[in-house]
Amino acid sequence: MPRLKKCPDCGGKMERGKTKFITESEKGLITIENIDADICTICGVEYLTAKSDEYIENIVEKILAKKIPSHQETVFRVAAEA
Ligand SMILES: [Zn+2]
Repeated sequence: MPRLKKCPDCGGKMERGKTKFITESEKGLITIENIDADICTICGVEYLTAKSDEYIENIVEKILAKKIPSHQETVFRVAAEA
């Protein structure tokens, strides 16, 4: 998906920001913090960027494949981009 400039919900201006993504999996709760999203300045709706989607998919896949040790709750914090 191309970067959103206008909110599909309210037409407000979208700004690039950081959000937190939480998903339930067979390995427990997976939380990914500090991930890029386009966030509406009016209504606050958040849309993950295509890159974030890929990143999440990759991390969740690794957890499910046991390549990354997981606990009841797994929290990842995305490092700031260089
Ligand atoms: Zn909006």
